[in-house]
Amino acid sequence: MLEKGILYLVPTPIGNLEDITLRALRILKEVDLIVCEDTRQTIKLLNNFQIKKPLLSFYTYNQSRRIPKIIEELENSKNLALVSDSGTPGISDPGYFLIKAAIENNIQVISLPGPNAVLTSLVASGLATNGFVFLGFLKRKPGKMRKELQRAGALGKTIVFYESPLRTKKTLSLCREVFPGGIKVVIARELTKKFEEFIRGSLDEVINRIKDREIKGEVVILIEPDENVKSKEIIDD
Ligand code: SAM
Repeated sequence: MLEKGILYLVPTPIGNLEDITLRALRILKEVDLIVCEDTRQTIKLLNNFQIKKPLLSFYTYNQSRRIPKIIEELENSKNLALVSDSGTPGISDPGYFLIKAAIENNIQVISLPGPNAVLTSLVASGLATNGFVFLGFLKRKPGKMRKELQRAGALGKTIVFYESPLRTKKTLSLCREVFPGGIKVVIARELTKKFEEFIRGSLDEVINRIKDREIKGEVVILIEPDENVKSKEIIDD
């Protein structure tokens, strides 16, 4: 019987192309096929490192169709690398569904360490790192978002979430409905890129500092809820 192939999870840079490991480059060169989100994004990366490999797109709208095909390749001894548009595959992207399917089919999954916006922002935020809650992208409906933040806040750990630059101001105003204005907040913007910026301060200060300016690029928001938050009531829907 043929040995099954391996699914490698390969992190790629979140902005600065130098942030790719030697192992990641070797695996990308060695595998039979690279499964990626947007082939145009991944081709740019591969061209930069003179890597030529067949690519297969895998994104939210074709994932259910693609999973059986990808599993079949793995069953036929092909080694595959999964990458996302940037950062670690499986973090707030469809990669999770493929990884789950591979595990269910007894396929070996090898995870390479590498760049991601969560830890890169957390360690430089100055907020407590001895425990944190990562919420991915928050739920969009204000009621659900409020509840999600209240629940996370009640844990008393640093909260980290992804946000679109266009929604950053609105989301911080909503945070102000949930948390006291004095808690610490950080906006980590354009990490590893030319215009990298950390906007640090109390929630009220940060809201005030960004009210008359445009927030551009990619954004992570971090919050350190204080003790008061623990006693706040968690309102159910
Ligand atoms: N897989 C990625 C990772 O490992 O971080 C995350 C993918 S998620 C679809 C994209 C979100 O990550 C962006 O909307 C932004 O919130 C955050 N992000 C990615 N790159 C970033 C960067 N260079 N600076 C700040 N935030 C970033």
